[in-house]
Amino acid sequence: MAAKLDIVPLNEWGFFHLPPRPCVIAGPCSAESEEQVMETARGLKEIGINVFRAGIWKPRTHPGSFEGVGTEGLKWMQKVQKEYGMRVCTEVAGERHVFECLKHGVDMVWIGARTTANPFLMQEIAEALRDTDMPVLVKNPVNPDIDLWIGALERLNAQGIKKIGVIHRGVSTPDKIKYRNSPQWEMAVELHARYPELPVFADPSHMGGSRQYLAELSQRAMDLGFEGIMIESHCNPSCALSDASQQLTPPDLIKLLESLVVRDASTEDEVFNDTLRQLRAQIDVLDENLIFTLASRMKVSRRIGEIKKTNSIAIVQPSRWDEVLERAEKTAEGYGLDKEFVKRIFNAIHEASVAEQNK
Ligand code: PEP
Ligand code: MN
Repeated sequence: MAAKLDIVPLNEWGFFHLPPRPCVIAGPCSAESEEQVMETARGLKEIGINVFRAGIWKPRTHPGSFEGVGTEGLKWMQKVQKEYGMRVCTEVAGERHVFECLKHGVDMVWIGARTTANPFLMQEIAEALRDTDMPVLVKNPVNPDIDLWIGALERLNAQGIKKIGVIHRGVSTPDKIKYRNSPQWEMAVELHARYPELPVFADPSHMGGSRQYLAELSQRAMDLGFEGIMIESHCNPSCALSDASQQLTPPDLIKLLESLVVRDASTEDEVFNDTLRQLRAQIDVLDENLIFTLASRMKVSRRIGEIKKTNSIAIVQPSRWDEVLERAEKTAEGYGLDKEFVKRIFNAIHEASVAEQNK
């Protein structure tokens, strides 16, 4: 059972207005110098971006890489607020960062993927933010663990932080894949489904790792109904001190944004609306049937559990389960269903039946 979250809707944060999507947060991977920050912010303001990002403290994989300019950069962020009227945000990874941000009037913070994965740090950050009205965007942890992600949101919420949202930035994988961090769209979609009021952003920059993938990843986020994107933009990407290959100039960013096809959740087209309503009704009925079938199956499974108990037989018999799975896979194939998909469902059903029989 998912815990409840008390969330202030994105439209009430005073940063973005929905529709239209996407809400865009853009800016360099790192604040490098006052000139670089101001020039990038100016370019972004010119293309209509109102929320500026820049990393001040950078979590780098190897020591010796550029680790951010530190607190000095927050003064440049204040200049961006003053000169361009933009909202500014940066990454925090501990209470010291939070206190510096509060002192310098940062408008919003985000939690990096490595930090979300660490409950001690999440607790420390949440407590440091207590009694503030700071909006916080939480990136998914580096590993594909939805509960760890939700746990981070719960820790913030428990300290009274209600302007919370999430950013999907992909996860680390041992094998080299096309993208720098493998998208786990289903994890973000699941979160969206569990907490419909939770704003979901995508970070195509850290997902893709390369400029060539930014458009397709941003488009996918729109197709899945995400509210926004956080994307890296630098006035001179080839000279960037971090993540040079994934940053776009502001003019290239506006080209990308204009290329996105954003389908809204509803339209005025009555024929379309009617057809959609009908198809959705069919889905609702089928879902009810599915649940009914699952409940019936569970009833039989409970009965099996009882007779196993009275006869002192172990609950799990692997050979029997192999048989069930094999049959399910064959049947699935006959219906043109993906075998792996059916296998995942059956394994989940099995797990629930065993748990039920163990009660
Ligand atoms: C970043 O946004 O600059 C960053 C370091 O991201 P992540 O935590 O997703 O690696
Ligand atoms: Mn980066």
